[in-house]
Amino acid sequence: MSAFHREKVLSVQHWTDTLFSFTATRSSGFRFQNGQFAMIGLEVDGRPLLRAYSMASANHEEALEFFSIKVADGPLTSRLQKIKEGDTILVGRKATGTLVTDNLLPGKRLLLLSTGTGLAPFASLIKDPDVYEKFETVILVHGCRQVSELAYGEKLVATLGEDEFFGPLMREQFVYYPTVTREPFRNRGRITDLINSDQLFNDIGLPPLDIETDRIMLCGSPGMLKELQETFEARDFIEGSHTTPGHFVIEKAFVER
Ligand SMILES: Cc1cc2nc3c(=O)[nH]c(=O)nc-3n(C[C@H](O)[C@H](O)[C@H](O)COP(=O)(O)OP(=O)(O)OC[C@H]3O[C@@H](n4cnc5c(N)ncnc54)[C@H](O)[C@@H]3O)c2cc1C
Repeated sequence: MSAFHREKVLSVQHWTDTLFSFTATRSSGFRFQNGQFAMIGLEVDGRPLLRAYSMASANHEEALEFFSIKVADGPLTSRLQKIKEGDTILVGRKATGTLVTDNLLPGKRLLLLSTGTGLAPFASLIKDPDVYEKFETVILVHGCRQVSELAYGEKLVATLGEDEFFGPLMREQFVYYPTVTREPFRNRGRITDLINSDQLFNDIGLPPLDIETDRIMLCGSPGMLKELQETFEARDFIEGSHTTPGHFVIEKAFVER
């Protein structure tokens, strides 16, 4: 049995010159937990060229969705950004990852803190009805440099808000906080600063960070993850894993090569 499923691209949407998203068919045997990632890619010169990608679709959805960077000289994304409807992509059979709710201790608020394409696993998790059962409030923070880079997340949140099932849940339990660092916008600043200064909580009108109630998932650049990990550990939050649930869990949105 091959290590991958061959899936057909169903749609492609370009958001900026560095970001795009696409949907693809999903083999019935491909199972995953919301928040996980898999190896996906293309066949190049008869060989698989694969990279880790978070599923941006939820596991109850029929199609797969991915939210991707375009790296100009990136071995995979220099090619992947050219895919069209009907093309074939490879999707590894095994999904894995730490951003799953089972790795967190029970809590009341779930903070999903992301930068750039680190939004992808949270796009999956905010479409998971169990998340709204386990937590009273779900706060999605998405930090980008430019306003245009927020477009995928803004559309996702708007679409879910209009959904017959998710709309009422979102109005009751969901808070979306996009923030930008390099342009004027209603929310400005880096996530670490917004948390350390309590500005995030002041802006959304909710109580500040509290280890008793708050559980956190982080997905972003290596620098963002290091800073936030230090911030939370300084407040006695403990990192969770598959073996021992904790107050927060971390996944890299990419690795520096
Ligand atoms: C657990 C995990 C999950 C991931 N999920 C996603 C995802 O959902 N969407 C996605 O686009 N990428 C994701 N990545 C990154 C992805 O695996 C590839 O690195 C990316 O697709 C670029 O591939 P490449 O071959 O073109 O370039 P690579 O050789 O892989 O990367 C070249 C350089 O580009 C930069 N880079 C790579 N990926 C990103 C990124 N996402 N954002 C900003 N800079 C980047 C880095 O500086 C890297 O050194 C994930 C990585 C990990 C480890």
